[in-house]
Amino acid sequence: MCGGFMSWRSLAQLVTLGVDPRTLGGHAVDHLKLFTGGRAVQTPLPHAALGLSRHALDTALRKAAIEAGAKLEIDTIRAVVPGLAAGQSQDWHAETIFLASGKHDVRDQARPRTAGDPALGLRLRLPASLERKSLIGSAIELHLFRGGYAGIVLQEDGSANVCLALRKSALTAAGSDPRRLLEGVAERNEHFAACLGDDWHSAKIETIGAVPYGWIAQDTTQGLFRLGDQAAVIPSLAGEGMSIAVASGIMAARYWLQGGAEAAPAYQRAFAARAHPPVQLAKAARGLAERRLGHLVAPVVASLAPGLLTKLAERCRIDLARPEASPPACTKARPC
Ligand SMILES: Cc1cc2nc3c(=O)[nH]c(=O)nc-3n(C[C@H](O)[C@H](O)[C@H](O)COP(=O)(O)OP(=O)(O)OC[C@H]3O[C@@H](n4cnc5c(N)ncnc54)[C@H](O)[C@@H]3O)c2cc1C
Repeated sequence: MCGGFMSWRSLAQLVTLGVDPRTLGGHAVDHLKLFTGGRAVQTPLPHAALGLSRHALDTALRKAAIEAGAKLEIDTIRAVVPGLAAGQSQDWHAETIFLASGKHDVRDQARPRTAGDPALGLRLRLPASLERKSLIGSAIELHLFRGGYAGIVLQEDGSANVCLALRKSALTAAGSDPRRLLEGVAERNEHFAACLGDDWHSAKIETIGAVPYGWIAQDTTQGLFRLGDQAAVIPSLAGEGMSIAVASGIMAARYWLQGGAEAAPAYQRAFAARAHPPVQLAKAARGLAERRLGHLVAPVVASLAPGLLTKLAERCRIDLARPEASPPACTKARPC
């Protein structure tokens, strides 16, 4: 449901796979606008990004995979153990399983949840309008509020993708009603209210519960490669989740080609090391963005040193181009 903002790193990685999202008619994004405490600051992004719906991207990826020889079967998987994905329609047996169920956990492979105040995601799509086009333009907008943020970006058809990541307590404070929460944010933020317009009441609000932001799979068992959000969950404020998903797929494929099913643990450890710096930085940024202190400090820092936000945006990217220790040759005698 999320991932409308495609970072320059996501774009570059997809191009290496033969899918250029820029040919899918995405909306050009070149700067970040940060709204907090009644103030707005803006800063250019280090490189060009794109607003593109998941529908457009996923359709293109599926087509490219089939053209490359993949066979597509559709089922709902109930549980996964090495060698077996137990589906609703049948059991799927394979020496290697690439687990990419994203935000949703499957039985026997659930990611740990910490107690306390879990993170939630909300999303709504607003129809194209001239007013929103002129308000949002080529920005990725981040609106900070107590306990979370809302991101807004225009997509290929002019529609606006509005995604919120917030603490459960922020929703509870709004009577556990996403519409009241949005009204509350709009009351304190004129620009956000203008972006919502009058037609948002009829938009469907999708929700996702208990997102384990910051979690990284440090290890796995042979035959089970964890990808995307099942490998590392970067706080969505960074707009890098799609890039992590693609990067993990590319890296897992490299390890598998070299070492087969046995290479899964070595891949997982190497990917964890690569994901660690951007995930940690995004976690720190999220921590600040949720707090009053962060709301006070962010606009001051951004106006005194605008380059700092740009640097932060760059540092939150996963870098596969950086030379990695080459995957070890795995053999039966010397498993990875
Ligand atoms: C509020 C919010 C906003 C975000 N905004 C952005 C953004 O702007 N840019 C960005 O780059 N990232 C963003 N992210 C992060 C991004 O959405 C994820 O990191 C990314 O989608 C992960 O890709 P994935 O392939 O691992 O999982 P997903 O994209 O979640 O895909 C998982 C797929 O598996 C399927 N599936 C799940 N369970 C099963 C099952 N049991 N059986 C069969 N199929 C199953 C699902 O239907 C889905 O098709 C955001 C996240 C949130 C929560």
